[in-house]
Amino acid sequence: MNALYIGIIILLIIVVFFLYLRKKRLEKSYQNLKSELLKILNLNIKNPLDDFLLLQLNTYIKNLEEKYKFEKYRRRNVFSILDTLSEGVILVSFHQSDTIRIDFANLTAINIFTTEDFVGRSLTEVMDNHNLIDLAIKSFKSDEDMEEEIPFYYPEKRYFKCKIKSINIENYRVIILTDITKERNLEDLRKEFLTIMSHEMRTPLSIINGYLETILSEENLSEDIYILLKKIEEETSRLTRMFNDLLDIARMEKNIAEEKKFSSFNLSKTIKKAYDFFKIVAEKTKIEFNSEISDNIYIYGNEDRLLQAVYNLLDNAFKFTSLKEAGEKTVWLRLYRENEDVILEIEDTGIGIPSKELKKIFNMFYRVDKSRTRQVPGLGLGLYIVKTILEMHNARIILDSEENSGSLFRIIIPFRSQITNLNDERMVR
Ligand code: ADP
Repeated sequence: MNALYIGIIILLIIVVFFLYLRKKRLEKSYQNLKSELLKILNLNIKNPLDDFLLLQLNTYIKNLEEKYKFEKYRRRNVFSILDTLSEGVILVSFHQSDTIRIDFANLTAINIFTTEDFVGRSLTEVMDNHNLIDLAIKSFKSDEDMEEEIPFYYPEKRYFKCKIKSINIENYRVIILTDITKERNLEDLRKEFLTIMSHEMRTPLSIINGYLETILSEENLSEDIYILLKKIEEETSRLTRMFNDLLDIARMEKNIAEEKKFSSFNLSKTIKKAYDFFKIVAEKTKIEFNSEISDNIYIYGNEDRLLQAVYNLLDNAFKFTSLKEAGEKTVWLRLYRENEDVILEIEDTGIGIPSKELKKIFNMFYRVDKSRTRQVPGLGLGLYIVKTILEMHNARIILDSEENSGSLFRIIIPFRSQITNLNDERMVR
């Protein structure tokens, strides 16, 4: 028993001795470090002020350590929050030769990358979506925020609303990707339904129209019946126009390749054709019609479709200017170059569009306040057709309008896309 106590006591003495040695060693290394520091900072240990400074430095370092730990913790929290978002978030910076480098991406964004090893690599290396890369370059170069709907094909076909937003760090931007595949698929279903219905309705409608024509040609019709039948004829031709427009839209959206068989043509001549056509409308409606059309502007595109878009916009300009009861009634048609872009403007001094409606008027079947526009014929498809045609040409439309004072539709046809992006599926908003 005694031997056991003695053994424990010896063991304790050895442990205490080693602890003492370790403490001594630590003290020594602390002293070494202290004297090294004193040497570097050129301080004197015997000077109480220097000793105080050293103490301050020590506290400062400890604070820094705390701050660093806190920042690390905060960073980890922010990253985990970003990883739970259903939106993809990518932090990018701009470098020489149009390289967009990735600094951070959350989990949703990583899913569309072709590799998980993305930090410090360029967007081109981790994804094959040139539309998004082009949009990011455009945003950096023009120093503007951008937004577009872009299809992605990896790992499967999906549509994303892509926003490129500047942040308060110079030369950095954040890309926010919102998955809108479900909405797009629903939209496709809706369009398919409308196309089938338009096809099915065309035949009975043309039969009704045929019968109406025959009855209307009868000589002994009473006036009441004649007026009634004329009303029916008006409505059936409205329906026929609507189904034709819907089929036209379906043709444009389905046969993209066919519609995009672009050729080079003189846009100035095309716009002059539209001007000549609407000069007659201007005379009839007593609306002043002015044009400023620069000569020899050639672009690459679908001439018939662009003429159709201009026609729809001019038709609206005259329709909604003639609705104005008093004041100036003028429509302008302009075509010119601005830097490398081609600008096409249709402006009017008509009834204008309330600001809350501006975003919606390019939607299918959308008409602003029906009581206001009831007096003029329309189906709410004209601007949707314009939007579809411009998307096909990678062109943008900017609308500036004020109620009761007029509207300006500004189309920007980018020089670059006129020649190169023929197979783009890029959307314009
Ligand atoms: P609609 O067949 O009704 O003209 P659009 O798609 O061409 O259909 O236009 C949608 C709606 O946008 C119109 O009903 C009208 O309310 C508004 N709008 C379009 N162009 C103009 C314009 N130049 N001035 C005022 N309102 C306009």
